[in-house]
Amino acid sequence: MGGARELLELTASLAADFLDSLDERPVFPAASLEELRAALGTPLPDDPVEPTRVVRELAEAAEPGVVGMAGGRYFGFVIGGSVPAALAADWLATAWDQNAGLYVGGPAVSVAEEVAGGWLRELLRLPETASFGFVTGCQMAHVTALAAARHRVLANAGWDVNLDGLAGAPPIAVLLGEKVHVTVPRALRLLGIGASAVVPVAADDQGRMRPDALREALARVSGPAIVCAQAGEVNTGAFDALPEIAAAGREAGAWLHLDGAFGLWAAASPRLAHLVEGAELFDSWATDAHKWLNVPYDNGVAFCADPEAHRAAMAVHADYLVHAEPGAARDQMEWNPEFSRRARGVPVYAALRSLGRSGVAELVERCCSHARRFAAELDRLEGVEVLNDVVLNQVLFRYETDERTDEVLRAVQESGEAWMSGTVWDGRKAIRISVSNWQTSDSDVDRTVGAFAAAYPTAAAPAR
Ligand SMILES: *Cc1c(COP(=O)(O)O)cnc(C)c1O
Repeated sequence: MGGARELLELTASLAADFLDSLDERPVFPAASLEELRAALGTPLPDDPVEPTRVVRELAEAAEPGVVGMAGGRYFGFVIGGSVPAALAADWLATAWDQNAGLYVGGPAVSVAEEVAGGWLRELLRLPETASFGFVTGCQMAHVTALAAARHRVLANAGWDVNLDGLAGAPPIAVLLGEKVHVTVPRALRLLGIGASAVVPVAADDQGRMRPDALREALARVSGPAIVCAQAGEVNTGAFDALPEIAAAGREAGAWLHLDGAFGLWAAASPRLAHLVEGAELFDSWATDAHKWLNVPYDNGVAFCADPEAHRAAMAVHADYLVHAEPGAARDQMEWNPEFSRRARGVPVYAALRSLGRSGVAELVERCCSHARRFAAELDRLEGVEVLNDVVLNQVLFRYETDERTDEVLRAVQESGEAWMSGTVWDGRKAIRISVSNWQTSDSDVDRTVGAFAAAYPTAAAPAR
């Protein structure tokens, strides 16, 4: 494998060059769709091409179209970077190329996942007995957890969904806050639970599900029910009132599911853990490692307080497979919807080991403190109105009119200094900043605020 060593060393050096360039390159690339198609769209080669040439030319052709997401001035959506240990461990796991579906497909990576899952449970203050599965992201964590929920609420109603499917089953009511993340109804759709099963629950001005509205809604449903609450609304970062919601759901006999894609990480900080008080009362939790833990894509985790329902919903057996003895080693395919899969617990293991408890807490707190500074400094700029209580890492703001909001956002995006996306809040255009990258520094915040100050067309501003 002498050729592979040279190739991998070349690749490591190209990757390091890219990471080193993040501070200078524009956050959003300038290359157009046509340019990228022209650069990458060679005809399918008839014959082999030398691997170092493939990698070199790929890097060269792709680079003008690579977004600076890994760096500290990307504030779009909710995007983490990669802490160095996680990036490196992810490479190693790729080189090992284990099929991490079964213990027998990779004993060491199975144990690494077992350990990493236990660490996460501790860090996120979830019950010690909760089961877990490493999946591609929070989307699939919802699918996994809600499959367990579907199994349990129907079993409680005397219906075996594994045997009889959904046709003729008692209908399941799903109570969702108005500001639920789109991946929850999408997960339900994949599980055969359509939009008409959803009972919407009103939210307040920060996007939090209203507990009184939930109680009223629960009083109107009978039969199997699932309540999905949220820790960290995607625009405002707001947390639902988890203890009240858990109490209401529990009284009604509903399954309680929590979307904590990024917000659940507040539990890792002693200063912020109060925000997720009550989360431990839920039946299932979905979160991401590729957001706030800063491991490479794709990495999410589903946890379940009802391991029996979790396993019943996911486990699969075949004569040609080699299954671990029950209660002995961990076969990942018992807990997640994939069959063959990569060892995605390995980068999580490495991230947690390299950061430690204090490192994760510090990462989360630092992002939140950058967000607070963003809110304070943006608020001082002409024309800006900050719309949310900055309780976490999200800042939501707008200008006097939708046109002005669009115009300033576009100018900042085009400056290459920073990138973030727009949204609609309360029927009006707004701008969201999400600070989720371990690399974001004070100077990144300064540069970004500076870009907003420069983008506001002072001379043309209407007299106020
Ligand atoms: C990002 C996000 C999701 C979806 O997570 P993926 O990892 O993209 O699948 C779900 N809920 C919330 C609140 C999110 O922020």
